Amino acid sequence: MADIAIIGGGAAGAAIFGELLRRQDRRGTVHWITGCVAPGRGVAYATDDDRHLLNVRAAGMGLFVDQKDDFLQHAGRCLGPAQGADFLPRRIFGEFIEAQMRARMSEAHAYGIRFQVNHAKAAAIHREADGGYRIDLEQGGTLAVDAAVLAIGALAPRPLKTVSVEALASGAYELDPWNRTELDHPPRRVLVIGTGLTAVDTLISAATRWPRAELVVVSRHGLLPFRHPAAPLAPYPYQDDLNAALLACSGVAPMLRLVREALADPSGADWRAVIDGMRPVNARLWQGLTLAQRRQFLRHLRWVWEASRHRTAPASFEAVQALIESERLQIQAGRVLAVDGHGPLAVTVRSRATQLTSTFEADRVIQATGLDTAVAYARDPLLAQLLREGLATPDPLQLGVAARPDGQLLDAEGHAQPGLYGIGSLLRGSLWECTAMPEIRTAASRLAQTLTPSDDLGDEETATKQ
Ligand SMILES: Cc1cc2nc3c(=O)[nH]c(=O)nc-3n(C[C@H](O)[C@H](O)[C@H](O)COP(=O)(O)OP(=O)(O)OC[C@H]3O[C@@H](n4cnc5c(N)ncnc54)[C@H](O)[C@@H]3O)c2cc1C
Repeated sequence: MADIAIIGGGAAGAAIFGELLRRQDRRGTVHWITGCVAPGRGVAYATDDDRHLLNVRAAGMGLFVDQKDDFLQHAGRCLGPAQGADFLPRRIFGEFIEAQMRARMSEAHAYGIRFQVNHAKAAAIHREADGGYRIDLEQGGTLAVDAAVLAIGALAPRPLKTVSVEALASGAYELDPWNRTELDHPPRRVLVIGTGLTAVDTLISAATRWPRAELVVVSRHGLLPFRHPAAPLAPYPYQDDLNAALLACSGVAPMLRLVREALADPSGADWRAVIDGMRPVNARLWQGLTLAQRRQFLRHLRWVWEASRHRTAPASFEAVQALIESERLQIQAGRVLAVDGHGPLAVTVRSRATQLTSTFEADRVIQATGLDTAVAYARDPLLAQLLREGLATPDPLQLGVAARPDGQLLDAEGHAQPGLYGIGSLLRGSLWECTAMPEIRTAASRLAQTLTPSDDLGDEETATKQ
């Protein structure tokens, strides 16, 4: 058995660490380099605002593929009876991850499995002459391992190019939408840039924090995520045929035609059932596209795909609708051309509909533009070092790093890096849909199997742990 390091203390790191604790034997050590003191929650599940809801029904959430009902049971213990169809607070899922990790670690401890949780950040990964890796920790010290998994999640947000240095330094521009720093004066107008799921949560929090503030949200298409129906949908009856036809066609336009035909199908299936039913083939559809076709999808369809595929919980949707109806929230479709000043900030937007430019003032501007996967531009020291030393290379469309579908990283020549893997949003370029828990826990299970081939587990070890 090998020594393995998991780098990243979010839900993906927790899932792969937990899987490895079950599969590891007594010869190797599993290191979890978490980069934080409360590992497991990561960005998504660290919120303590109970209006920040999961966008997946409780029955679809979980950390391990073989423990399907555990989250529902945990939620039932915390909140009273919970239904599989409910959209629960993300905080509860964060607590669930921590509880699962405690249980896996104590089980591993009881079986004498060696593991180590290190709250440091990984600063660099070097390949050693023996084929293993040396990991330098930011706080000092190194680890020698045979394999490493990058589970570093979303990149730190970068300011939009149109934001001036003065605006950034003013304190009125917030790069981190989850930051809850108290302000000296409540803002009169708050502008949120972005209209995805993060923007929805940001608006819901802002409306409560600053009850008198006028809210404005702007994105290029001004399209908020669609809502989930209150009850689970019946599947589209011809989904298997549709998915087979999608897999057989080449190019984005014919795929779009097929999906449109399905949406117009007289069977009356809900459009959301059709989109959800594509989930099992999305990665293969993406992999079947050429680079030019992927680019075409990103340019013309990404915005509507994201809004349709990554929908809001009904309660979140209704909270935003109430803000719109009470005229507290205004939605603009346009491009932010400039954010300037020392506070209040002057924001210039070109309208998508009229192409006219207007400038207005906002006391607070919050950037909620969502997942950034452009590793080549990231200021992350670990990624910068991996790219510099050729251990990783950016995906050509800046969707994370180049990798095989199983997560193994590729170098600039397309050679797989033995023992070096990624999981989660870093793999968007090779998998497209790989950031939500249902995909992450499946990937974690498969990766754990790859890293611990079963002939490595002695019969006695396997028998003891199952
Ligand atoms: C607001 C929000 C809501 C979401 N809601 C849902 C939902 O309801 N259902 C769902 O299925 N999915 C949801 N998602 C998708 C979500 O991305 C995944 O569920 C999951 O949380 C991703 O976890 P992760 O570990 O990949 O990334 P992250 O949560 O970003 O965690 C990465 C971790 O790695 C650490 N790290 C980074 N660099 C280093 C380093 N060099 N060394 C050590 N550690 C490092 C970071 O500090 C961080 O703790 C949501 C995402 C967001 C942002």
